[in-house]
Amino acid sequence: MDVLVSLCKRRGFIFQSSEIYGGTGAAWDYGPLGVELKNNIKRAWWRDNIHLRPDMVGLDASILMHPQVWKASGHLDHFTDPMVDCKACQHRFRADKVEEQSWIHYCPATKGNKFEVPAGEPCKHCNVRRSLCPDCGKGELTTPRQFNLMFKTFMGPVEEDAAVTYLRPETAQGIFVNFDNVLQSMRLKLPFGIAQIGKAFRNEITPGNFIFRTREFEQMEIEFFVNPLETIDGRPADEVWHERWIESRFAWYQRYGMRRENLRIREHEKDELAHYAKRTVDIEYQFPIGWSELEGVANRTDFDLKQHAQFSGKSLTYFDEERKQHVVPYVIEPSAGADRSLLAFLADAYREEEVRGERRVVLRFHPDLAPVKIAVLPLLKKRPEIVTTAHDLRATLARRWVTVYDDTAAIGRLYRRQDEVGTPYCVTVDVQTVGDSAKGESGDRCVTIRERDSMEQIRVPIAELPGIFERLLGDGAWADVARSYPPARG
Ligand SMILES: [Zn+2]
Ligand SMILES: [Zn+2]
Repeated sequence: MDVLVSLCKRRGFIFQSSEIYGGTGAAWDYGPLGVELKNNIKRAWWRDNIHLRPDMVGLDASILMHPQVWKASGHLDHFTDPMVDCKACQHRFRADKVEEQSWIHYCPATKGNKFEVPAGEPCKHCNVRRSLCPDCGKGELTTPRQFNLMFKTFMGPVEEDAAVTYLRPETAQGIFVNFDNVLQSMRLKLPFGIAQIGKAFRNEITPGNFIFRTREFEQMEIEFFVNPLETIDGRPADEVWHERWIESRFAWYQRYGMRRENLRIREHEKDELAHYAKRTVDIEYQFPIGWSELEGVANRTDFDLKQHAQFSGKSLTYFDEERKQHVVPYVIEPSAGADRSLLAFLADAYREEEVRGERRVVLRFHPDLAPVKIAVLPLLKKRPEIVTTAHDLRATLARRWVTVYDDTAAIGRLYRRQDEVGTPYCVTVDVQTVGDSAKGESGDRCVTIRERDSMEQIRVPIAELPGIFERLLGDGAWADVARSYPPARG
C-alpha cells in the first residue's frame, strides 16, 4: 500500500487533504491525473449501467435533505457504532475494535517498565490482559455509548434544534424519496432502476487505509425496482434480478481489466444481514490490506419505500395494470464506491517489471480508464520542425482523446514516465518525420507509435493517426492494428 500511496503523490493522482497544514484525518484530494481516472471510472459506470440499458435512468439528488428522511430510513436511531472513551487521555475507540489493536502496558513485574503488547495477547512478564486504555496504558475506559455516524449541521443562520440537518450518509435515500417523481415523469414500467453518483459522508471513528475508508466519499448506487408479485421461471422476480445484478456487477470490474483471481463473492451470514434485507452479497477485492468489500449488492425488499410512505404520508406504490392492484416494489441495490473502485483498479494495474536489466513500473490501465490516452513526444527538442509538428499533433488528437505533450527528458525517460501513469500509447516525432530542410531532404510524415504493455513500436503515416487511434482506443486490439504497419526500431 505504501508503494501506491507514494506513487499517487509523486505522479499527481492523490494528495493528502490540507497537507500544508499538517493534513486532515483520512481526507484525500484527487490531483490532475487522479481526477481524470476517477471521472473515467464514473463515466464507464454511468454508460454501462444507464445509457446502455433500456431499463435504467439517472438522478442527482441533493446532499442536504429533510431531516425526517433519516428518521424514516432508520439512520437517526440505528446508524451508530458503540464507543468507549479513555478517562485519562480522552482518546476514543470503537468498543468492538479495541481488542484489535496493540496496547501500552506499564508492567508491575518489571518495576513499571513500559511495553507495547501485541493485539489480543497478555503481557509476557506478568501475564496480565489489557483492562486500561490501549493508547496511554493508564486511563480506564468508559462503558460503551452509541455514537451516531452522521455529520450534523444546521440549515440556515440559526443554530437551534429545529434547524438541525445532516450530510447524507448514503445516496440511496435521495432515490427512494424521488421514486414517484421519476416513475410519473418518465412513465416507467417495472422492473426499472434509478442510478446516482454522489458524495456521502460518515463520521467514521476509525477511518484509514488510504482512500479505502474515508469520512467523505463518493458512491455509485443503483436502486432497481421489481414487482414482488411477478415470477421469472417460477421464482420470485426479486431473487432472479438480485442474481442478475450480482453477475453483471462482478463482470463489470473484469471488463475494465481487474483480474478474476483478485475478485470474489461473499454471501452475508444471517446474523450479519440488515433487519430489512432478504439477502446481501459483497463483491470483494484482494486489496493490499487483504480481502475487503468493493461493492455490496443487497435485496432491501420493500422496506425503504414503505418507511418513506409511512413517515411522509404520501403513497409510494406502483399500479400493476395486469393485476389491477397497487404494489410496493422490492428493490435490489448494487452499491459501489467510486474511491474504492479507483483504489482497486490502481492496485490491480500496478506492475513492476524487469526490462533489459532495468526496473520498469507500469500501470496497466484499461484504455477507457487511463487518465491520459496518448502522449506526443519529440525525439529532439532543439529541432523546431520536430517540436512544431509534435505540438500540432497533440492539438489535433486532443480534440478527441486526452493527449499530452512532454519534452522534459530524453525519450527513454519519457516512455518510463508515461508507463508509470498508465498512458497506453506514445507517439514520437523524429528527424525522419520532418526531414532536414538544410540538406533539402523532405520528411516521410510518419511517426512511431509505442504500445505500453508490449513496448512494441510501429511506424505509421501522420494522416492515418486519427483512424488508428479510433481503433486502438475503441475495440481494436494492438496486434491487429500493428500487423498492417512496419515495426519501428525500439
Ligand atoms: Zn488513554
Ligand atoms: Zn506485565
